[in-house]
Amino acid sequence: MTSVALTIDRIRTGRAAGTTCTPELAREPWDAVLGYGPGASMGDVLPTGSPRQGGLPEQYRQASTDELHDRIRAAKATLGDRVVVLGHFYQRDEVVQHADFVGDSFQLANAAQTVPDAEAIVFCGVHFMAETADILAKPGQQVILPNLAAGCSMADMADLDSVEQCWAELEELYGTEPDADGRVPVIPVTYMNSSAALKGFCGEHGGIVCTSSNAETVLEWAFERGQRVLFFPDQHLGRNTAKRMGVPTSRMPMWNPRKPLGGNDVDALLDARVLLWHGFCSVHKRFSVGQIEQARAEHPGVRVIVHPECPEAVVDAADEAGSTDHIRKAVAAATEPTTFAIGTEINMVNRLAAEFPQHTIFCLDPVICPCSTMYRIHPGYLAWVLEALARGETLNRITVADDVAANARVALERMLAAKPRG
Ligand code: SF4
Repeated sequence: MTSVALTIDRIRTGRAAGTTCTPELAREPWDAVLGYGPGASMGDVLPTGSPRQGGLPEQYRQASTDELHDRIRAAKATLGDRVVVLGHFYQRDEVVQHADFVGDSFQLANAAQTVPDAEAIVFCGVHFMAETADILAKPGQQVILPNLAAGCSMADMADLDSVEQCWAELEELYGTEPDADGRVPVIPVTYMNSSAALKGFCGEHGGIVCTSSNAETVLEWAFERGQRVLFFPDQHLGRNTAKRMGVPTSRMPMWNPRKPLGGNDVDALLDARVLLWHGFCSVHKRFSVGQIEQARAEHPGVRVIVHPECPEAVVDAADEAGSTDHIRKAVAAATEPTTFAIGTEINMVNRLAAEFPQHTIFCLDPVICPCSTMYRIHPGYLAWVLEALARGETLNRITVADDVAANARVALERMLAAKPRG
């Protein structure tokens, strides 16, 4: 049992108060929860109309963990090559152990596009990832999200109406004509962690999608074509990436969708190189400079690596910052036993610690607080959708409307061509 599962099990059985952000982690995801459920996004506002998961049949709720694992393995064996299970790095171990591919969102988008002729892709990640897989999958291939309530609070911080309103205000201010170098006034760039509708918006307006692993290449692409960038929904990835490329933070105003001109004056917008949407990840927002100082005090020589969704001060204080794939490669490449303090989701950190026992690896955040929405994919849901598939029934299919998908595919294909730096 992993340390996350062990701690939660101790809370469940009354053997420990635990060091988790909430005792609600000991509840199963089908227990009634308001909002995003236990974990880092608990305090975030769930938009009305967000997908809700219907009830999970009793037999899956009552089954023991061992029984669920046996049933998942049996269903996968029955389905054979007809199904591919994809798992994100942040997913719990009990689920990841059944994945055929494990990776970050860039790698999984690639996997969704290149999987052999599986009839179904079961995506153990969150809603926007399953939408992306549906857009990139082969015609007729079905994409399934085991729990429809597995969304992403960051992705929910930018909706199509707000972005279209912002775009209209920017067009009024900047006009639509290119400058003498042929660069249009603004290029929209959306982080992968966004709805298909926003990816479609980018495709339709000359923009592109990025992930944390190729954000710098994507911004270079955008600056070749535009005088400035509108970056959404994650302000931190946008700020940290552009800053690394030499853009001063004074030229990166924040766009608050609830205020006219995003809460900015005209001069600030005219001078802007990157307009940052007011969004963030509640997992990565938890990391602080104080935690880094504490890690350095307690572990002299510690190497601190954080994800670029962390706030600017944390990225500046760390030894390095990079995507989940970057973090994994950095740990794997260390030839001498090394102490790593990692600033990203707890499930990935614990998996690295188990995989590389020659190193000392711990999460910068001393409190166990997983991503609330990834946490909703439980083996019970995975067993449920796989057994249904094995008897010819598709549950929880994620589909993107053809017109949205066509534009989104344009922006995603630009993203897939923007390879991450070595
Ligand atoms: S870790 Fe943050 S950005 Fe990633 S799925 Fe969870 S809430 Fe969304």
